[in-house]
Amino acid sequence: MKKRWIIVSNRLPLAKDPRSGELGPSSGGLVAAITGIRSEIETLWIGAIPPEISKEEWTSSQQNSESFEKYVPIFIKKKTYEKYYNGIANQVFWPLFHYESGLVRFRWADWAAYKRVNEMFAEKILEVANPTDLVWVHDFHLFLVADYIKRKAPHLKVGFFLHIPFPSSEIFRQLPVRNELLQALLESDLIGFHDYSYLRHFCASLQSVLGLESSLLKVETPKKTVQLGVFPVSIDTKKIQTASRSVAIRKQASAYRRKQHNDYTILGVDRLDYSKGIDLKLQAVAELLRQHPELRGKASLIQICVPTRTRVPEYEDLKMNIERQVGEINGEFSEPNYVPIQYIYGSVDFQTLVALYKMARALLITSKRDGMNLVALEYIAAQNPKRPGNVLLSEFTGAVSTLSGVLPINPWDTVQTAETLAATLKSGRHAQAGAHRTMLQFLENYTATDWANSFLGSLSTIKVYRRKLQQRVEIQTRNGKVDLPDSLKASLDRKRLLVLLDYDGTLVPIHQRPSEAVLSSNTRKVLNSVLGGTKVEIVVVSGRRRNFLTEQLKDLGVSLAAEHGAMYLKKGGSHWENLVHSDKQSWYPLARKIMLDYTLRVPASFVEEKEFALSWHFRQSPTEFADYQAKKLHEELELGLANLPVAILGGKKVIEARAIEANKGTFTRWYMDGVASKAENQLVVAIGDDQTDEDMFNSVPPGSVTVKVGKGPTGAQYCLASQSELVGFLKTLSECPSS
Ligand code: UDP
Repeated sequence: MKKRWIIVSNRLPLAKDPRSGELGPSSGGLVAAITGIRSEIETLWIGAIPPEISKEEWTSSQQNSESFEKYVPIFIKKKTYEKYYNGIANQVFWPLFHYESGLVRFRWADWAAYKRVNEMFAEKILEVANPTDLVWVHDFHLFLVADYIKRKAPHLKVGFFLHIPFPSSEIFRQLPVRNELLQALLESDLIGFHDYSYLRHFCASLQSVLGLESSLLKVETPKKTVQLGVFPVSIDTKKIQTASRSVAIRKQASAYRRKQHNDYTILGVDRLDYSKGIDLKLQAVAELLRQHPELRGKASLIQICVPTRTRVPEYEDLKMNIERQVGEINGEFSEPNYVPIQYIYGSVDFQTLVALYKMARALLITSKRDGMNLVALEYIAAQNPKRPGNVLLSEFTGAVSTLSGVLPINPWDTVQTAETLAATLKSGRHAQAGAHRTMLQFLENYTATDWANSFLGSLSTIKVYRRKLQQRVEIQTRNGKVDLPDSLKASLDRKRLLVLLDYDGTLVPIHQRPSEAVLSSNTRKVLNSVLGGTKVEIVVVSGRRRNFLTEQLKDLGVSLAAEHGAMYLKKGGSHWENLVHSDKQSWYPLARKIMLDYTLRVPASFVEEKEFALSWHFRQSPTEFADYQAKKLHEELELGLANLPVAILGGKKVIEARAIEANKGTFTRWYMDGVASKAENQLVVAIGDDQTDEDMFNSVPPGSVTVKVGKGPTGAQYCLASQSELVGFLKTLSECPSS
């Protein structure tokens, strides 16, 4: 089966020509980027039909033109679409992700429509996709699609690309559906952003909202690995260059230049959106004319404002305000034969746009936030390399990271922007040629096609496997009865069981105060009955001190390993064996001093002093502050105690320094080699809930059974949903027939 690309976006990239009434390509950044992809690979495009096109018009166009075969339309009821598109996409995600939380209007009814439309997209994708296809979902309209797809086709490869900024986690956290959104998005196999800063914000949000740690390359969720990446979009450079060199456009550009009488034209091309900072741009131009009277009568701004989201009230207000501002500036600075702001409300055709790019001395982009900004890239591609114009580009755009030769501006500093403009207009065009060449080379070598190839290339190499779902079998409990999976039953068959059992979070629930984590009378009762027969033997392998374990468990007839296996007490014995032989004195006092320093800094944190380990607990401390201090402490201990026989580890709300031998993996190997029975009918079952237990899972003999308690990444084969199911599970194990 041939691999295809399936590109999924809110709308199909089509619009009705207002004059001819025919369907043709539409405009906009996403459309420009994706229609710029030239690939040999068969590509399907799935999206909604734009509202101005009726079903009948669509059907007749599709019948009349082969080029429409690649488009798969989704028909959505007007009311539902309105709620999904204007209600959520444009009135929640767009403002919030552009740092305008004051403009967010969240309504639950709209959210229900958003979910329904995302589900409809997924249904359509599932209808047309082959298992080998790559599905590429675009932008904030479709955050939940991957989740709906994966519920039915977990192995279909799905990538998601965000075309707008991902905001700081402080902003993202305001979203009422923040958990649901992130969890759904994490069903994708690859998530891409334009800019590194957006990726950082995304990772910070995963941490603050879901508590998920992620490297900037990938994130491990309880279900799978999700790859992350930065893939700045590009343009169809050749298309613009060819147009710009054409006779028609050269003539048009010269005609414009003659009309302007000089080479002081500044160009602005923006959708009429609050994120574009058109108000700041107008202020900067007014400032230029105020501070530089010599430029009055010469410098002018041609500002194209493409209408957008005209049905959202904020956009009407914005239009009025901008038009008022244009009027005021023109009123102040116009002269007979000179209008400083030439304002066009409407879109222009491609030829006119390229001619304007070619003619303008400078392009001024003052976005307050802008995912990328393709206009900047297009302007550069349209320039004559010998006499290029300059780009003044807002620092708050994604494009500023990839365009090394632009003049970066802080759009809020209108005085400085005016000065940069003045200097640019007064300098010769050739001064800019070197910087322009570097940017042009970049755009020639990295086009929209390369962007798509790099994203889809990464997606195609990803191995889609839901590690935990495939390898980790959930042990179900129904009505209090544990239902053992068949594979586990087969392993247990007629075996005696040696159970290596963790204590905190496994045998007892996690408590705010470690001293409160004691065995309940029910657990005690069950353990007594489990250990009453000959089927089960238990070694409790814990990070706790030996005194605590002895107090809690000695009378139960279990063997004990304290402090992660630093010490061992045989069942029924009274002598603890010391398994640590390294020099504790070389690190212990220093680690203690460093940790005590942190207890002063972090409220409600404390140090637990063990024989071969020190633990700094911060479960009751203010979360974010303590998490940050924990990272610092971890680093400080690593640096301060480097090359000493000590390991530094982070656990659940604890940082530990332990003798290197105090490790559940080391203990397990020691125990299996020297202490455990070698009987053939013995099966080892290791059960634990946190990172230290992973060492144990990795060290049990081949053929053993490993069980993770609770959620989170693990190498265990089985999992129990929560600690409360542990006792029932042990009981069921003990009731299996033994030889
Ligand atoms: N554009 C257009 N018609 C116009 C003005 C602009 O088709 O009258 C195109 C422009 O060529 C560019 C896109 O609209 O490709 C704007 O993309 P950008 O990334 O700059 O902003 P966005 O609209 O995506 O926020």
